[in-house]
Formats: sequence, structure tokens, C-alpha cells
Amino acid sequence: MKVCKFGGSSVADSKQISKIIDIVLADSDRKIIVVSAPGKRDKTDTKVTDMLIQCASEVLAGKNPEKSVKAIVERYAEIQRELNLPVGVVAEIEKDLWARVKGDTAHHGMFMDSMKAAGEDNAAKIVAQAFQVRGANAVYVNPKDAGMFLTNDFGNAQLLEESYPLLKRTLSNRSELVIFPGFFGYTKAGQVATFPRGGSDITGSILAAAVGADVYENFTDVDSVYPVDPRLVPEVKEGIKEMTYREMRELAYAGFGVFHDEAVIPAVKAGIPINVRNTNRPSEPGTMIVKSREAKSGGVVGIASDDGFCNIFIDKYMMNREVGFGRKLLQILEEEGVSYEHMPSGIDNVSVVFRDRGFTPECEARVRARIFKDLSPDNVQIEHGYALVMVVGEGLYYTVGMAAKATHALAEAQVNIEMMNQGSSEISMMFGVKSADRAKAVKALYQAFYKA
Ligand code: ASP
Repeated sequence: MKVCKFGGSSVADSKQISKIIDIVLADSDRKIIVVSAPGKRDKTDTKVTDMLIQCASEVLAGKNPEKSVKAIVERYAEIQRELNLPVGVVAEIEKDLWARVKGDTAHHGMFMDSMKAAGEDNAAKIVAQAFQVRGANAVYVNPKDAGMFLTNDFGNAQLLEESYPLLKRTLSNRSELVIFPGFFGYTKAGQVATFPRGGSDITGSILAAAVGADVYENFTDVDSVYPVDPRLVPEVKEGIKEMTYREMRELAYAGFGVFHDEAVIPAVKAGIPINVRNTNRPSEPGTMIVKSREAKSGGVVGIASDDGFCNIFIDKYMMNREVGFGRKLLQILEEEGVSYEHMPSGIDNVSVVFRDRGFTPECEARVRARIFKDLSPDNVQIEHGYALVMVVGEGLYYTVGMAAKATHALAEAQVNIEMMNQGSSEISMMFGVKSADRAKAVKALYQAFYKA
């Protein structure tokens, strides 16, 4: 059986919802359907989740939210009219929204989550009705009734493990099609709590793991995952057919917006393949993300890159003989709350690479002073404006000449490699370059591995 998740663009309007119904009814293995809140209908539109956040902020600021509530209700009313659904569904959504607006605002996070969850909850209700109007035996299932219990970290909740057997019991082997809202669950005290933004992916993955699905189909608005960001290399046409969980993780780390990072974990742990597919072109097979695949020699699965890194270089003669140098350095960063990403080292030098976000000038000054005081280095340089470029593929490890190919391509493109990490990970090569060279580097590597 299959668990399917449809993202915001797939429930944005009545046309998209009709596509979902066609897709689901075309395959009787599709039994559990997770939906997001209606997303953007076009580039200028606003996602329902953002409208709900705006509305909740108005309530918290003591403003009258009536206009916002009306606009949100209208998003659902449009769907109701266009799909000829019973009018009562809109009245119910309006009632539900007002009940949330009038809810307890003492705990802001809790109130915000109750508002945000309305997007998915009402989408699931209206989508279930749409299935019924088409003659399908579909039911809306509420996460609380299904046993989806979360921690009370509002806006950033995590699943409580005890939910798995409950979800399995309520959702396995049902005769009806289950329509399940993504993005939220309930605390043990019965409060609504949401996953981080984009969290409907997490819901889908959890349900797939709970019921032991054969595949978790994640429907979005692209044919497949591309091997390189089409914004950097517009000529890329062919998507990735298959990749492993490890490859996906490395690509996602370096900025591939495939999935919510956390979303894969339940499916990965349960060994369930993930299939990224396009609601608008369901005949496309999409990208399969699997536990293992035959690593073709030399196979690069993708090239990812991300900006916004900072690098601390430290030089000290005889550093290699000094026991505890690395620990002391990392301790300084730890005490400043800086999480490091990479730490390449030489005989008398070491670099620490980390994300620039949150590294304020004050924090930088403190780190520099502590390094001088505790480590007595010969030289310290802190540089901003780095990008990391990753070449990822299970086959890299087994193939001679891959690093040569990559470095040659970068040299030809006049990109200076500031740092290189090859070998720490069996399945990726990482290059640190100046942010200004990022696009050039990605293009050059794409040409070398895909076009040459
Ligand atoms: N609707 C939520 C968001 O916009 C969750 C999701 O779409 O996955 O973040």
C-alpha cells in the first residue's frame, strides 16, 4: 500500500484538488492521503498558512482579525463552489476559525499553533468531501483520534514514539480512503502542536513508517529532483531517477530543497522508499529515494551548493605536537553557541567552517579574543562570504580520477578552491569557494560530470 502526501500547490484550488482525486483513484494501493494547507495559486498569491499566521498576529496584537478570517474562509469557499460541494462545509470552516481566534492567547506559541493547524485541518476536511462527491469512500481522520502525539515544543514539535503503535492500529487495513491533515498533532494534554514549517512532509513520512507502507509518495510541483539547481543551471532537463537516503541527505545539507530534513527520518528508519512526484504530470515516474542502489562507477547523482559560511583559519608553529588544541578551539565555539560544520587541518594550521547566521560582530570579537588568550596562535584570520559546493554520488568512492575531474573543471573555470574535503565522506567531495564564484563552480562541475 502507498501513503501519499500532497503539498500546498496540489491543494491550492479546485483544479489541483481534482487532479489529486484522479491520481488517488487511479491506483487502489493509494490508501492514506496526507494534505498540506492550500498554497499559492500563482506567484503573487499568499499561502493559507501565512494568512493564518498574519491573522493570529493580529489577534495577539489586539487588532480586529475579521478581514483576515474572511479572506481565509474565501479560499475554501472558492473550492467549495467550484467543486459543487455541500455549502455546509464552508460554514463549518468559518465556525472552526472563529473558535480558534477566540481561543486562549495566554501562551502565544500554543495559540499560534492552533491557528496554523487550521490550514491543514480544514484542507483535509474539504478534500475528504471532494472525494465523497466523486463517489469515493473517503473519511477525514483527525490526528488526535489517530493517536498522533507530539512534544509540546510549539512550532517545532516532535513525534512521541508511543504514537507509532497507535497510528498503526487506527490507520492500517481500513476499508475507507483516509484523508489526513499534515503539519500538526496533539500534545498529551490535548493541545494542538505543529511541526516546523513545511512539516506535512514529516506527517506523511511518519504515517508511512507507522503502517509499513510499500512506498511513500510525495507529490509536489516538479517532475523529479534535479541533479543541480535549475536556477543556477537552467539547461538541466533530466531529473534524478534514483538516489539513496545518504545521497539525499548530503544534497539536502548543501541547499537542495528536496525535503524537509527531518521528514525523511521516519521513512529511512523504517526502510520505506520515498517517491517524489509531480501532481501536474502524474505519468512521470519522479525520483525514487531508496536505501541502497547499485553504485555505478563514477555516478554523480547531484551537485549542490550553499552560501553563507564563515571560516576561521588558525596558524601555530608546532600545532601538531600540542595535545588538546582542537578541543580547546571547539570549546570556545561551543561556549559561544556556534555549531561547526567542517574542520580541515594541516600540520601547523586548522580551519573551522560554520554557518555565518547568528555569528554577530560581537560574537566574532569574543571568539577572536578567546582564541588569542587560550591558544596563543601565530595568526588568526576570520573570513566571511564562503560557499560550499558538494559533488555527491555513491559511486565516487570506487572511482579513480573523480577529484581530478572536479578540480580540473574548477581550474578551467578560474575558480579558486579555498578548501577541499575529500574522503571524510565516502559519497561526497566538498569544495569551499568564495560566494561570488559559487554559480561558476556549480556550472563548471555540471559540465564536467554531465556533459563531457
Ligand atoms: N502548510 C505548512 C507550511 O506552509 C506545512 C506544509 O505545507 O508542509 O509550512
